[in-house]
Amino acid sequence: GPRADEDLLAGLNPPQREAVTYRGQALLIVAGAGSGKTSVLTRRVASLLRNKEAWPSQILAITFTNKAAGEMRERVEQLVGDSARGMWISTFHSACVRILRREAEQFGFTKSFTIYDSGDSRALIKRLVKDHEADAYGLTPAGTQGRISKLKNELADAESYARQANMSDPAERVFVDVFTDYQRELQRANAFDFDDLIGQTVYLFRAFPHVADVYRRRFRHILVDEYQDTNHAQYALIHELTRPPGSDAPPIASGGMMIFEPEPSAEDAASLTVVGDSDQSIYAFRGADIRNISEFERDYPGAKVVLLEQNYRSTQNILSAANAVISHNFDRKDKKLWTDVGAGEKIVGFTGYSQHDEAQFVADEVDTLRREGIDYSQMAVFYRTNSQSRALEEIFIRSAVPYKIMGGTKFYERAEIKDALAYLVAVSNPADEMAMRRIINKPRRGIGDVTIETISRYAQDEQITFRDALANSSALGVGPKIQAAIAHLDAVLAEATDLMLPASGELAPPTAVAEGLQLLLGRTGYTDALRASRDPQDEARVENLDELVAVAREFARNNPEGTVIDFLAEVALVSDADDLEDASGSVSLMTMHTAKGLEYDAVFVTGVEEDLIPHRISAGEPGGPQEERRLFYVGLTRARKRLYLSLAMTRAQFGEVSVAMPSRFLQEIPPELLHWRQSPGDVNSRGGTQSRALNARRPGGGSGFGTSASRYGDDLVPRSTSIEKFANRIPAKVRDNGDMQLAPGDRIRHDDFGEGRVDAVTGEGAKRIAHVRFDAVGPKKLLIKIAPIEKL
Ligand code: ATP
Ligand code: MG
Repeated sequence: GPRADEDLLAGLNPPQREAVTYRGQALLIVAGAGSGKTSVLTRRVASLLRNKEAWPSQILAITFTNKAAGEMRERVEQLVGDSARGMWISTFHSACVRILRREAEQFGFTKSFTIYDSGDSRALIKRLVKDHEADAYGLTPAGTQGRISKLKNELADAESYARQANMSDPAERVFVDVFTDYQRELQRANAFDFDDLIGQTVYLFRAFPHVADVYRRRFRHILVDEYQDTNHAQYALIHELTRPPGSDAPPIASGGMMIFEPEPSAEDAASLTVVGDSDQSIYAFRGADIRNISEFERDYPGAKVVLLEQNYRSTQNILSAANAVISHNFDRKDKKLWTDVGAGEKIVGFTGYSQHDEAQFVADEVDTLRREGIDYSQMAVFYRTNSQSRALEEIFIRSAVPYKIMGGTKFYERAEIKDALAYLVAVSNPADEMAMRRIINKPRRGIGDVTIETISRYAQDEQITFRDALANSSALGVGPKIQAAIAHLDAVLAEATDLMLPASGELAPPTAVAEGLQLLLGRTGYTDALRASRDPQDEARVENLDELVAVAREFARNNPEGTVIDFLAEVALVSDADDLEDASGSVSLMTMHTAKGLEYDAVFVTGVEEDLIPHRISAGEPGGPQEERRLFYVGLTRARKRLYLSLAMTRAQFGEVSVAMPSRFLQEIPPELLHWRQSPGDVNSRGGTQSRALNARRPGGGSGFGTSASRYGDDLVPRSTSIEKFANRIPAKVRDNGDMQLAPGDRIRHDDFGEGRVDAVTGEGAKRIAHVRFDAVGPKKLLIKIAPIEKL
């Protein structure tokens, strides 16, 4: 009779069909962009369920973002109905959190562990670098964090690193010390950093084979999307899960008799399907390893390989451009993507005088497309670095183009949000001293470093947590005022704990997180302190906190049984591509990294300039420019029908105006595919007055901040206040640092450059310039008012 999954196969081409129906141990699907890799993976899951070859609970599907996981789940449910519930469709990180929640007690953690995001772990490393005076050996917090992360992605720990490092080098010794202490502090705080979520799960599986076996038996079908971007730790995790159960279990002693489990056989192993495209590997800087694809057949002998070559996403012009660009990478297997949808429109090129000019072009074109019938939600604007969004946002707001920025993490990196979350951590994980330290004097309670050290020492002497030490405020030997402040904080935390995690073991009401959050921020006076401030930024902070409460309500609706611990995990795992806002009805703005896996009718790739794409930091790195080309390829291949490539001749960034050169990648596109509305040549030939104006407008180089050289406004003039009325959450989107006071010695964090130290401040008012030495990229000059910076 007909297959139960026949309708799932309708419309698939023969190799796609094979990829859905093949039933062997290991399947590798390699294919270019838009060839249906993700679609095939989704259908494969649906087909397994439909044919009753697997229960939903036996399926583990790994996606690159939470958003992609949500979409895949939805799609599978559409295809097979409710029976899809119980599947694990998630990112590597979320899957590991679920495993660790169940198993953490096996190795010295508790269920309520905290997840340290990159900012948290940076803060901890910073303290340790200071404690060890490691900066004397050239260690910076950012650099140390990067090294530790890289090692963890290779599954190395401090001990194994020390064994092969040159320990006669004092810089190496101090690095090992910091690494060792970092790991000890995480354990003490009952916390995992992002890399640990994967690495510790691998460790758990290797150290406790009987635990691994539970998951090996459970997951019979494992599927991984975007396999080209897995790092070694993720590879190892998959490898552990796809070994036959019982592989390394010792014989079980039972009533004096040794019972041997039957020999494990390879057939008992879970089936593994991975899909990927080595041309889209864009996370090597985070340890992703393309070899995971090229060596798949070696690691999984007998694996079936399916190639998909027909692209269903883009027009031929777009595809030809993308193919031409990527063919400049050496060391790759040439694959020719083709499509039968026809040539389509030519790619449109535009060169603006400034990034505002460029942004205006994008806004105008968005308008035109919209009138042609393309919905805003079907348009996307990409850029290489986050700070490029500012000019786009300003013009979009002025032109009343609805937009949203993909990149939820930014919201959660805001100081007030981190404070609020630290309050929740103080409730959920009392062992987390860093969270306690963060909130103990926020709002100001007169508790300074000396008192904090007193509490910390007391906790250590008494072998209790920092949190518990607060309950003994009278024993701390501090002044009465401080003691009262501590006692008050303790009482508020206790009350919030009762609400959110009742000692009775009763389930807290779903609204407990939102209410607890409000209780904490209200009773401690945190919100009042912001309200009392006359700083307009603080007003925005109150709104952001309201937003967080709204997020907690939303969480409660979706997870009626979710606790504060689950809420914190979900928040910690929000990734770049996971937006907070609803995408419908607005144009999406995002970095090219975030764009992976997505598709839009119309795509604008902006800032197609040397030093941006390829980015200047890539120049010195082995394979850097090649990885940038892949990133550009990812950008181009997101477009279905319309593709725009734009650049600016001058770019005001970080308080400096510089002359930009067209990206080398533009020359790699066959000219007949590209129609220039305004080419770099057009702009140059009229550029005489341009460069004079440019010089006049150099910061510190004259009075020219207000001179307009471009058709569309000035580069350095801060946005007007009338814009403020337009978008209700402007401060989260458009940078205005107001009167941020910076002084030499201050530490700041820049969206693109990372952390740095202020050497000097010059100029006045809106033209004040900070001279900053960045840990990673060296000295830069920044216009304080508008630079994407935050004081640390
Ligand atoms: P990327 O490399 O960007 O991740 P991909 O290989 O995962 O792309 P999909 O996103 O699965 O590709 O598919 C690209 C588009 O092509 C989607 O809109 C999908 O619905 C469509 N598509 C895939 N296969 C077919 C098919 N056989 N017939 C019609 N449309 C298809
Ligand atoms: Mg895909």
